[in-house]
Amino acid sequence: MLIRKLKLAGFKSFVEPSELRIEPGLTGVVGPNGCGKSNLLEAIRWVMGENSPKSMRSGGMDDVIFAGTAQRPPRDFAEVVLDAVRDDGEELQVTRRIERGAGSAYRVNGRDVRAKDVSLVFADAATGAHSPALVSQGKIAAVIAAKPAERRMMLEEAAGIAGLHVRRRDAESKLKQTEANLARLEDLAAGLD
Ligand code: ATP
Repeated sequence: MLIRKLKLAGFKSFVEPSELRIEPGLTGVVGPNGCGKSNLLEAIRWVMGENSPKSMRSGGMDDVIFAGTAQRPPRDFAEVVLDAVRDDGEELQVTRRIERGAGSAYRVNGRDVRAKDVSLVFADAATGAHSPALVSQGKIAAVIAAKPAERRMMLEEAAGIAGLHVRRRDAESKLKQTEANLARLEDLAAGLD
């Protein structure tokens, strides 16, 4: 999957609508300390469904919304739109929007979806908020120090099979529910005999 464009509005320090185009080749983002370079990487993770305060360097969910400065009032929402092209050539547009106090909503190609659907879209494309392709500061040292199980997770994400685990868990839980229903049905049928 190739990320082509990132649009941000009200996200962290990007209070005004901003657009980052990622052209073929190498793209570099340069700027003084604290200008928002890491916030761009966090925007990519966030639109892919990331919620972990550690990854997002935030305390609560609403902390990604522009918090205001001495000159500017805070915003009530943040929105990130990611345009990408899948390996099969299909265009993909993912939008995440959060309203203060009201949580997040996601859209894929204009259609409302659940957070889980967004995670699966990226997991199937061997990428996502935890993809080893997104390397934040200090991450290299963390990879070296990772336990075998954590390294295995990184390899599974890179291989694009992480989504299969989620589907397997879902299928197992449905199976359990069905078995319980079946047992109940057998009890009821025995009662009728
Ligand atoms: P460095 O080079 O030091 O790593 P950087 O360019 O990566 O810096 P970031 O860490 O991305 O910069 O940006 C930090 C800036 O974002 C800080 O100025 C911080 O005040 C601002 N910021 C973070 N969250 C918010 C928010 N919710 N509202 C407003 N500003 C925010």
